[in-house]
Amino acid sequence: MRKNIVAGNWKMNKTLQEGVALATELNEALKNKTVNCDVIIAPPFIHLASVVNAIDTEKIGVSAQNCADKPEGAYTGEVSAKMVASTGAKYVIIGHSERRTYYHETPEILKEKVLLALANGLTPIFCIGEVLAEREADKHFEVVKSQIEQSLFNLSKEDFGKLILAYEPVWAIGTGKTATAAQAQEMHAFIRKTVADKYGKDTAEDLSVLYGGSCNASNAKELFANPDVDGGLIGGASLSVDKFMPIIEAF
Ligand code: PGA
Repeated sequence: MRKNIVAGNWKMNKTLQEGVALATELNEALKNKTVNCDVIIAPPFIHLASVVNAIDTEKIGVSAQNCADKPEGAYTGEVSAKMVASTGAKYVIIGHSERRTYYHETPEILKEKVLLALANGLTPIFCIGEVLAEREADKHFEVVKSQIEQSLFNLSKEDFGKLILAYEPVWAIGTGKTATAAQAQEMHAFIRKTVADKYGKDTAEDLSVLYGGSCNASNAKELFANPDVDGGLIGGASLSVDKFMPIIEAF
C-alpha cells in the first residue's frame, strides 16, 4: 500500500542540543494527534542516536541524510549504512542534489549507497530531479528517467518495492520557487510510469513519490492533493515545529 509521507531534511542545521530540542518539540506536538501521513525527520549524523532516544519512533521515523558507499574500513570521515542502522534510524536520504552537486556523487556511487542501505535494513529516500537548464531545454523527463535507471534499475522487484522516491527539481530547492501542482503531478505520473514499465503496475502503484523544493505550509495542500504526489521532502520549513506541523496536517 502506498503511504503518504512528510519528511523533514534538516541539512547542516542545528547543534546537537538544538536538534534534540526540535525533535522533542515535534514529538510533543504529535503525541495526541492522529495524522494522515508517516512523519520522518532527517537530522545530521551526530544527532541520530540522541534524537532516536528523545522521541517515540513509532510516531516519527528517523533518517540519515547520507551514508557511505563502502561498507566499512579505512574511509576517514565517512559513516556507513550499518552505523546509521545501529542508531535506530530506519531511513537514509540518498542522492540529494546537494550531494550530487557539491560532493560529486555519481549515479554509480549512489547505486552502491542504495545497495548498502538496503543490505542494512534501511529504507532509502532516493532523490531525483533536473536543474533549471535541463527543464528549459525540455530534457527534464529524460534526466529524471536516466537518474532512476542508472542508480536503481539494477534492483530486484522486491528491493525496488522498499524504496521511497523524492522528486526535487533543483531549481526549486531553497529558492522559494516551487514547482506548480501541475508540474509536480506531471513529473510524478511520469516517474510512476517509468517504474511501471520496468517493475510492473503493482510496484509503481505502491511506491511513495514525495515532492521536494520550497514546499511549505501555504503550498503543501495543493501539491499533496495531486494523485501521484504522496507527500513531501521538506528542507527549510522542517526546521521549526510551527512551520513543519501545518505541512504534516496538509494531508
Ligand atoms: P527546501 O529543501 O524545502 O528548503 O527547498 C528541500 C530539500 O532539499 O529537500
